[in-house]
Amino acid sequence: MTLEFPQVPITSQGIASLDQGPLHRHTHTYDLMRQCIHCGFCLPTCPTYAVLGVEMDSPRGRIYQMQAVADGRMDITPEFVEHMYCCLGCRACETACPSGVQFGKLIEAAREQIQIEVTLPSIQSEQRRALQTQAEKPVAEGDETYPLHAHLPDSPALESPGERLLRRFFFDIMLPSRIITSLVFAGLKFYQRSGLQAIVHRTGLLDLANALPTPFQGKLKTPEELMYQAGGDLLPTPLPEITPALGRQRYRVGFISGCIMDQVFRDINEATIRVLSANSCEVITPLQQQCCGALHVHAGEAEQGRRLAQHNIDVFEAYNCDAIIINSAGCGSNLKEYGHLLRDEPIYASRAQAFSAKVKDISEFLTSIDWNHDMGEVARTVAYHDACHLAHGQKIKQQPRQLLQAIPGVTVVNLKESDWCCGSAGIYNIMNQEMASTLLQRKMDNIAATGASVIATGNPGCMMQIALGARERNLHVDVMHPIQLIDEAYRTGGLYEIPAHNVAAVQKQRQRALLIGLAIGVGIGVLLQRNRRRRIHASKEY
Ligand code: SF4
Ligand code: SF4
Repeated sequence: MTLEFPQVPITSQGIASLDQGPLHRHTHTYDLMRQCIHCGFCLPTCPTYAVLGVEMDSPRGRIYQMQAVADGRMDITPEFVEHMYCCLGCRACETACPSGVQFGKLIEAAREQIQIEVTLPSIQSEQRRALQTQAEKPVAEGDETYPLHAHLPDSPALESPGERLLRRFFFDIMLPSRIITSLVFAGLKFYQRSGLQAIVHRTGLLDLANALPTPFQGKLKTPEELMYQAGGDLLPTPLPEITPALGRQRYRVGFISGCIMDQVFRDINEATIRVLSANSCEVITPLQQQCCGALHVHAGEAEQGRRLAQHNIDVFEAYNCDAIIINSAGCGSNLKEYGHLLRDEPIYASRAQAFSAKVKDISEFLTSIDWNHDMGEVARTVAYHDACHLAHGQKIKQQPRQLLQAIPGVTVVNLKESDWCCGSAGIYNIMNQEMASTLLQRKMDNIAATGASVIATGNPGCMMQIALGARERNLHVDVMHPIQLIDEAYRTGGLYEIPAHNVAAVQKQRQRALLIGLAIGVGIGVLLQRNRRRRIHASKEY
């Protein structure tokens, strides 16, 4: 077998150019890299390799580059950054690998190394200038085969000050604070419910803003459309700290409500708590919990991810729960790896292992207990999409299907390539829109062929991405979390009713947002009019 690796530039610095970060010899990461036997079994399962056909965008090629950097044979070049951030982190390669390579840990380490290098003041000025010069070179003829290879706008090493500021706001200010996250999403929900969104779409303002030469040129539309209909109240009140078990209590479980999950999919969180309660669980949802840090770790912001992990361990330890339940695949995968994330922290290493051992995806937990089958009929045809971080990250494939198949009236139909990434991948579909869209089209072709009325999946990112694909194609499918179908079956079975205030409150919030929007619009109109009169008056006097 011949491997077609391109020549990598040899540096004059010998072993590793920097002495900090995870991507070096004598690190845990280096041992993980050496497990790769270069067999190539992972290549056909890699979505970026399937699209680009480039070895350097395959799992094997990425490991090769990581090892070259770790050995000091290669610098962190714009190309290296590009190949590392072009990876979806979907971990399909892990499932295929006969040698047990833990690629998820490797890609996170590589991105952490990139973040450390580009933010180190000692190398920043010179290396950044060199990187910037390379990136600004005109695109050579023949390089336009795929937009990702024609330029490097998404690499964090080459971020403009505006992008850097946005990154710092998102990772360091917004996500770690429930209050700021709530305020940001309140603004978004207000925009959607007050009618502003409809005006912006109808008048073409969004297209105009998207075309303006700002750091976000061409990138505004997708996030706006992904968050098309954020659910729940404008400013949701915290979930109840303690929800008693319905009937006899058998378990005490902690519930991770998530950051974005709680703002966009509050109804799924509420359904999860109801289902747990109906399964003899007292559900503890600590108010002090923070974002789990999954988006941070996957994007290379591991230091902030560690701080969040430590905080959550402190919070949940106080409740002594039998299990810690999560309904988001990406978060669950990260929570199960707190032990790895904090392995070098003396105070937290063993506590993190104990925490991770208790974490269970909701489908994993329910199918591991004698769960309540007291369900009514839900007549729906359902296709199940495997979220990557559930199927490949946590090896959970059968459990959600078992839940769905147990619901009376539900017909589960086969979805071709159900565990092929939909392109969501954390913030990937915002940062790498071309690749994400290519993958989404493939996913939507397969979804359309099922004829299902419901696409069920266990990850908020996948739900938003598939819902976007369905809107673009005018495909009439509901995108739901499997737990919502169980919740519906419990309700049709008469186990409980959904509190009426949930529905009424959302309607009330919509009306309020509309009124506030109208008031602001009238206020701005009055001010503009007054200003105009004043100018006319002034010009007359002159
Ligand atoms: S399948 Fe595993 S061992 Fe083989 S090339 Fe891929 S990562 Fe390396
Ligand atoms: S994580 Fe996914 S995109 Fe990245 S190398 Fe593995 S299979 Fe390819």
